Amino acid sequence: MVDINNKQELCTICKKEYTSIHTEAAPGIKIHVCPNCLETAKHNFIWICTSCGKVYLRPKKLVLERLDDFELKQAYAQCEDMQIIQGIDMCIECDPEGIFNYMEVQKTAMEC
Ligand SMILES: [Zn+2]
Ligand SMILES: [Zn+2]
Repeated sequence: MVDINNKQELCTICKKEYTSIHTEAAPGIKIHVCPNCLETAKHNFIWICTSCGKVYLRPKKLVLERLDDFELKQAYAQCEDMQIIQGIDMCIECDPEGIFNYMEVQKTAMEC
């Protein structure tokens, strides 16, 4: 999932650090992630809006605690130690009404 080359680019998540670590948030969507943000990704699910670039973090613990669907919970529990950064087509800023349905769909479709 994580690739390293020599090109230094601004971190897509925090937009503060330069980093050569990059990954794909969605097919064809390359993002750069600095070591700090990779560390953050261990404890948080990260969604990035591919249309406006806004970044959303949610603590994994919180997500897990709020899930009452057993199977979904199992799926997320397996992802607990993985660094998950996922691209979404739109966010609450781009589409305040559509986003909630969209996130639900993303959640169910998510695989490790
Ligand atoms: Zn960063
Ligand atoms: Zn957006």
